Amino acid sequence: MLTIKLSAAAVCSSSSTHFLNPRCRLRFNKRIPFLSNPSLFNPLRPIAECSSFSAKKNSARKMDSSASSRIVAAAEQLKDPDQLIDSVETFIFDCDGVIWKGDKLIDGVPETLDMLRSKGKRLVFVTNNSTKSRKQYGKKFETLGLNVSEEEIFASSFAAAAYLKSIDFPKDKKIYVVGEEGILKELDLAGFQYIGGPEDGDKKIELKPGFLMEHDEDVGAVVVGFDRYFNYYKIQYATLCIRENPGCLFIATNRDAVTHLTDAQEWAGGGSMVGAVRGSTQREPHVVGKPSTFMMDYLAKEFHISKSQICMVGDRLDTDILFGQNGGCKTLLVLSGVTSLPMLQSPDNTIQPDFYTNKISDFLSLKAATV
Ligand SMILES: [Mg+2]
Repeated sequence: MLTIKLSAAAVCSSSSTHFLNPRCRLRFNKRIPFLSNPSLFNPLRPIAECSSFSAKKNSARKMDSSASSRIVAAAEQLKDPDQLIDSVETFIFDCDGVIWKGDKLIDGVPETLDMLRSKGKRLVFVTNNSTKSRKQYGKKFETLGLNVSEEEIFASSFAAAAYLKSIDFPKDKKIYVVGEEGILKELDLAGFQYIGGPEDGDKKIELKPGFLMEHDEDVGAVVVGFDRYFNYYKIQYATLCIRENPGCLFIATNRDAVTHLTDAQEWAGGGSMVGAVRGSTQREPHVVGKPSTFMMDYLAKEFHISKSQICMVGDRLDTDILFGQNGGCKTLLVLSGVTSLPMLQSPDNTIQPDFYTNKISDFLSLKAATV
């Protein structure tokens, strides 16, 4: 069993990379970033890991979990996909940057999914994008020539409705929606009453003396997701509901900083809409998308899956990989989306997946190389 000892000198050194063992490269970040950014703190995440899964678990137990000695093991490049495939029964895939890029399928995806299905693996597709419903995502998969059923798709629009269902949100109460079509369709399917959404996109505030904006006192929850038609009316309406309706919930589909509306640049993501309402209400939202564990808990319960039997595959560290780690799953980062190898290996990055590889079809090409 590999035991890792940190000398005082190592702990006190500046942010740098230490090679204590060629198979177990450790990074120590003196600045303790999760204290300034609580979203980075993950109490379930082992703090030191080595190459095999069992060694990782054992070494993690031996490490001091205090903030002053937080270390993160560097991710290992995937070399033996069979070892990973055989160690889990379910693969959860993020979509954009993993399965497709915009409207273009990433090379080798259909063959890779077919291979995993032929090995009896359960496949689930999870996205923080709330602009589409499960049904609409089903159509997108179909258009791209992928045979994926609605039951295998978990979009954050669905997660918002599933969360409200899970807490028995009263059907006689209304939900105010800041977001697009996907959320409305999922709330409809779940039998909830809602107001707002795209139809409030054209509404304006006329600020004349004494003007008071009315709001519906039957609104018991505000759901905020990515919204290309976000405006001041929606911020004010959501704010009035949350601040003035007793017990009104504030639910966010995700807090993603950026999204990829075009491949030319990064665009303000769902976190910007959530941040505006958080700013005016001074309330923290209940997040149902990644990296919150709601969808993982829901999936594990729905499909009777043990979380240790899941591998989360994604292209983003702060949503996908953290989501997998928060759920206690194995994690694989693919470099076919937003995260580059230098970003993964930057000393400032504290989120390290178990493995990384270029794209999911490496499952096939690496297998062929090892035969
Ligand atoms: Mg992605």
